Amino acid sequence: MSASRSEGETRILVVEDEESFIDALRVGLAREGFDVTVARDGHEALETFASGTFDVVLLDLMLPKVSGLDVCRAIRAASEVPIIIVSAKGEEVDMVLMLEIGADDYVTKPYRLRELVARIRAVTRRHQTAASPVVSESVVEHGPLRLDVDARRCFLRGQEIKLRKKEFALMLLLLENPGRVLTRDVLIDRVWGSDYVGDTKTLDVHVKRLRTLIEEDPKNPRIITTVRGVGYRLEVASSAGE
Ligand code: CA
Repeated sequence: MSASRSEGETRILVVEDEESFIDALRVGLAREGFDVTVARDGHEALETFASGTFDVVLLDLMLPKVSGLDVCRAIRAASEVPIIIVSAKGEEVDMVLMLEIGADDYVTKPYRLRELVARIRAVTRRHQTAASPVVSESVVEHGPLRLDVDARRCFLRGQEIKLRKKEFALMLLLLENPGRVLTRDVLIDRVWGSDYVGDTKTLDVHVKRLRTLIEEDPKNPRIITTVRGVGYRLEVASSAGE
């Protein structure tokens, strides 16, 4: 089922059973330079995954034969490949659970191809970065933001902004995971750990303060976005880098 490909192309396994989506993804993703392989049910997904090498898996949840949930678990048990979950609007999906069993990100149908491509690029880039040697451990950059970890200083477009300790830790965690949904539990655990004595609003208060410092319009954030009911995400869209 694999299309011909050249070296260097990102190989993407599209697990999808709806023909209209398959057609659109084949054309749209190929145009963006991706090498697309399609599996139409959960069983085929696992077979195809095992027999090839893929850089990212786009995984529909509602699938014939083996559910997307079980496919996600099985792939994650065998591989660190980035997995993006695709769910339909109105589907009862526990996204926190999805992220816990190893999905990297998710999109909801109907989605815009541009958004999907941005998410694919973000997870693959993060994956590659994680796999390659660290050039400088003390500086973390993304878009307009730069953190000097050793000196504990934060810069927005070169201008220093003053962050308190927990704000800095929160910002660092977001910057280390661009494009990735970080659940509330993960953020609280990694930033506060057992120090988290406030109510569940403490996290939101810190995010709100970061937004007032870095967002042009803190009420319509474009850098740190809310993933409702799940957590927060540092956006990778080009608008965040301007
Ligand atoms: Ca489906």
